[in-house]
Amino acid sequence: MAYSKKLEMTTVEKMMLIHCQDRHQPATAGLCGDCRKMLDYVRQRTEKCVFGDDKPVCSQCPVHCYRPAMREEIRKIMQYAGPRMLQRHPILTVRYMYRKRFKSPPGQVRK
Ligand code: SF4
Ligand SMILES: [Zn+2]
Repeated sequence: MAYSKKLEMTTVEKMMLIHCQDRHQPATAGLCGDCRKMLDYVRQRTEKCVFGDDKPVCSQCPVHCYRPAMREEIRKIMQYAGPRMLQRHPILTVRYMYRKRFKSPPGQVRK
């Protein structure tokens, strides 16, 4: 997996951990079973992304290959964890925001 994809997966995992530990299982260290399945799904989508190693962040994607229910679920997780990420993982967050802002999907020019 390309470095940019690994970085994105690390960011997603941290966000899912924040959400899971606050909402699903506060007293434990890792992800609950459902969240682990969700993370596997995100990893599988990321590995098979039609944009290859040139992928944008998924929230900026014009294709969006996720199943609708999974897309809605990850949207809720990101919405919850996003504001909490800057405090807990500032470097990852800044790198993600940079990619979100400047990494357009191939063939598209960001206005
Ligand atoms: S949502 Fe878009 S960017 Fe994300 S994995 Fe699917 S095709 Fe790639
Ligand atoms: Zn969970």
